[in-house]
Amino acid sequence: MYAAPVRAKALALLHQGESLSAVARATGVARSTLRDWRDRKPSDRPANCPRCDELPLDEEAYSALLGFYLGDGYIATAARYYFLRISCDLAYPGIIDDVVDLFHRVRPGGRVFHVPRTGCVDIQLSWRHWPCLFPQHGPGRKHTRRIVLEPWQREIVERRPAAFLRGLFHSDGSRSTNTIVRRFESGPRTYAYPRWQFTNVSDDIRDLCTWALDLVGIPWRQSNWKTISVSRREAVAELDRLIGPKT
Ligand SMILES: [Zn+2]
Repeated sequence: MYAAPVRAKALALLHQGESLSAVARATGVARSTLRDWRDRKPSDRPANCPRCDELPLDEEAYSALLGFYLGDGYIATAARYYFLRISCDLAYPGIIDDVVDLFHRVRPGGRVFHVPRTGCVDIQLSWRHWPCLFPQHGPGRKHTRRIVLEPWQREIVERRPAAFLRGLFHSDGSRSTNTIVRRFESGPRTYAYPRWQFTNVSDDIRDLCTWALDLVGIPWRQSNWKTISVSRREAVAELDRLIGPKT
């Protein structure tokens, strides 16, 4: 292995038209290595990308990660790389573990970083091919642009709707207790019902949430302009079963 500056200097000299022998003398790098560097094109390197290389994709993990991406994720760019970041609340270590596991399953061998922020942590992994897997990547915030799944993504979610819902509800969702008071002749009585709510300011992302709820036959209603509620007793129980608790 040669240090990156040596490689950069050698490639610069070769691009200036210096011969392999001359660059070998100037840098101390073997001619065969220089030839290899000179002739290798970016496309020669294996990308291990399910889209570019038509490799198998862990659909269960992908569907969940897509949900987390649409909920609390974003893709940042740096040089030729992209960083997929999922912001996780520190109050839910089980969800942090889930996201780390999803990264490893979707991008085997990648190095996952935990970037601390106030009250939360960004789980982050760099890869040049994140836009292949998440073509919804684009400039600006997600709610300011159209978010439409490609047909291959829709097919994966149709096969793995519960995982997708887990990603959505475990990032932008909450399970809370709704308390109502009913008045009777004998006096007021308080009833408490659990409910799930999904809150997102993107119309498109809310539509994807309700589409996935329809796929699994869970009734929902829009409780305000940015919130989808699942509050019928059997529906809450079914969603609990499908996506598990926020832990
Ligand atoms: Zn790719």
